[in-house]
Amino acid sequence: MYDPINDSVLEAWVAALGKGQSLGRTDYLRLLSLSDRDQLAWVMGQARAVADREFGRGVYIRGLIEISNHCKNGCYYCGIRNANVCVERYRLSEEDIMDCCRQGYELGFRTFVLQGGEDPFQDDDWLCEVIAMIKEKYPDCALTLSVGERSEQAYERFRQAGADRYLLRHETANAVHYSMLHPESMSFENRMRCLRTLKALGFQTGAGMMVGSPGQTLECLVDDLLFLEALEPQMIGMGPFIPAPNTPFANEPAGSVPLTLLLLSVLRLRFPRVLLPATTALSTLDPQGQEKGLMAGANVIMPNLSPLTVRRKYALYADKKYLGNEAAEQIGSLDEKLERIGFHISYERGDFKP
Ligand code: SAM
Repeated sequence: MYDPINDSVLEAWVAALGKGQSLGRTDYLRLLSLSDRDQLAWVMGQARAVADREFGRGVYIRGLIEISNHCKNGCYYCGIRNANVCVERYRLSEEDIMDCCRQGYELGFRTFVLQGGEDPFQDDDWLCEVIAMIKEKYPDCALTLSVGERSEQAYERFRQAGADRYLLRHETANAVHYSMLHPESMSFENRMRCLRTLKALGFQTGAGMMVGSPGQTLECLVDDLLFLEALEPQMIGMGPFIPAPNTPFANEPAGSVPLTLLLLSVLRLRFPRVLLPATTALSTLDPQGQEKGLMAGANVIMPNLSPLTVRRKYALYADKKYLGNEAAEQIGSLDEKLERIGFHISYERGDFKP
């Protein structure tokens, strides 16, 4: 589709990204179309070199606590969407969550991520109490929330209660594509407004997109890159789309692992200090996903710290991994695996360093 790219052109692009410059629409499009194996390997090597310079070979770990799989929304891609009657619903209590934190703290985690569907029963008051409880008991830990779209006042209260970071993937920065992934009750403008609010309130803010979601083109992914350049988030959560049973997209193909890896590298080159996880979705599609993600420039892993009894119920997509190297209690074997490829777990809080 596109002419091959000269090595000298590729080198100039990587140099420009390294200086914090945008490549603009046309060149990003060409870069994302790169298919030459040697050139792809070279770009990933460059991205890894940037990650090595910024973080060394330490990988930050985040203990992921999936606090509820109830959700009022009907995102077409998501396994826990409201209309999926096949999901066995659960919500964790304050005690359950504190128990997860205690276990995580003993294992060495210094960041906890509370993630869940948009569950009206876990309302703003309840969340503020949980945040305050965790921060009182573990003042040396960072707390990340990922509980979707809330009011500006709610975000402000979460911040005052002590939450440090907030993950809210934008999913796609193309408004037309957004409307192909979400029902009419959800709005692109509101998602964007939430992200701007979170940033303005001083949260370390995470945005991000799924790679290969239905209807996505390379142009949409360029929109995502340009949007991320404008937002300048401190974290970017990006993984491949994976079809979930009993959703409108159950029979759609999964996103591409090689394209996800190339995008991780482009993000690392363009945003040298951004906190960039090798996601569970990547490891679900590829057993070597964690290693490949790190080698492409990722520097964060988010092992699952949810109670074992609920893990399989937080089924965002088919065959989601929650055991082995995705399980918090297996952190010892994760460390061994990382050591074998020249990395190690960093037990620091791992805040964004401006
Ligand atoms: N409700 C919160 C929100 O909307 O931000 C957080 C929970 S939501 C389930 C977390 C993320 O899971 C979403 O931002 C989406 O990118 C990802 N996700 C959901 N379904 C997926 C699928 N089928 N494949 C890959 N990722 C998926």
